Amino acid sequence: MITIATPGEMRAWSARRHREGRTIGFVPTMGALHDGHLQLIADAAERSDDVVVSIFVNPLQFDVDADFDAYPRPIDADVAACDTAGVAAVYAPTAAAMYPSGYQTRVVPGALADLMEGPGRPGHFEGVVTVVNKLFGAVQPEVAIFGQKDFQQLRIIERMVADLDIGTEIIGHPIVRDPDGVAQSSRNVRLTTEQRSAAVAVPHSLDAAVDAARRPTTDPVDVVAAAVAVIDAEPMARHEYTTIFDADDLTEVDRFTDRSVGRVRIATAVWFGDVRLIDNRDLFGD
Ligand code: AMP
Repeated sequence: MITIATPGEMRAWSARRHREGRTIGFVPTMGALHDGHLQLIADAAERSDDVVVSIFVNPLQFDVDADFDAYPRPIDADVAACDTAGVAAVYAPTAAAMYPSGYQTRVVPGALADLMEGPGRPGHFEGVVTVVNKLFGAVQPEVAIFGQKDFQQLRIIERMVADLDIGTEIIGHPIVRDPDGVAQSSRNVRLTTEQRSAAVAVPHSLDAAVDAARRPTTDPVDVVAAAVAVIDAEPMARHEYTTIFDADDLTEVDRFTDRSVGRVRIATAVWFGDVRLIDNRDLFGD
């Protein structure tokens, strides 16, 4: 496995692989790799000849400096995990290599970025689509894997790839959870033991929503209330938002006109101390 630090070297490596007739599968990450990331890597390996994993904590997408500073960066363990997983190349550029002096271009996402996470995290998705665009430019992947854990991000990237004629196939990988149901996240390591135990309230709240939605007379307001009640019953949790949305265009669903699997999802954001966790699931499936 090779570790690559600059966009130029990354592009040259990919060009060589392409000349050899090989396809590249790409998993962009911010590092602190967990089993969720490893499952995305396995997915990429099934769909391509060579897997590239990027590890870059992108300053452009953090709206809170303290969150950027506190983000875990166990780079040696991450590189070793990629090696074990059979990754062909780790692309780990520095911020200076990505945003050198004089850097000024940004990619502006559209209306999908104004919904859900958007209002509470100004500039976040602009930072995400800008960095993903740059990473795609360096890695030149045939296929890229993103987690459904960040469901809005997945839809925004799909839109960007279509709108900007990028040509990379985007795959949404299902959410990988710990045995107790908590979605795996690099931020989980920042939870205290007590907060980590309390975090089961997040998947439990989504379970309560799914149960409530099964009753044919229930409307979305009641379903959200059922979810929020579970969060509110956990003293260590601070609820930020819960929303029921259309899985395609992310608009809020205020009436169930279609209860089929895959059409409607519920998403939530919950704080434990200064750690913000997000989760979502298919309201009529999963
Ligand atoms: P991150 O390093 O948190 O930016 O995540 C990198 C990629 O892994 C993103 O596409 C995430 O959606 C995905 N991801 C992170 N956690 C999970 C998880 N628990 N299940 C599935 N995908 C995940």
